[in-house]
Amino acid sequence: MTQPRSAPMPAALRAGRPAPHPARTVRCPHCGAAEGARCTTISGRITKPQPCPARIAAHAIQTAVCSTCQVLQTYPCRNEHGLETPVHAARYTEAKGTAA
Ligand SMILES: [Zn+2]
Ligand SMILES: [Zn+2]
Repeated sequence: MTQPRSAPMPAALRAGRPAPHPARTVRCPHCGAAEGARCTTISGRITKPQPCPARIAAHAIQTAVCSTCQVLQTYPCRNEHGLETPVHAARYTEAKGTAA
């Protein structure tokens, strides 16, 4: 059985470092950018400096457990009624700590 890990991760948010965004390791569900590729506009003509918000969410869902609603990797976040919700803020933090 896999247990949700909630080890405290230092939120190393250093500004001014143009490292590749970890969300690039997953395919973008919004603009369709392949794994490792940068996000583009929907038309595919302009490359965006930051991944689409949907891709960052997808990356968090695929790589991190949620310490707020306790779902495991690949499962969407849920609220107290068991309905799918947008990714909780804590899950983004977990994703940044686990997949650099
Ligand atoms: Zn995208
Ligand atoms: Zn959650």
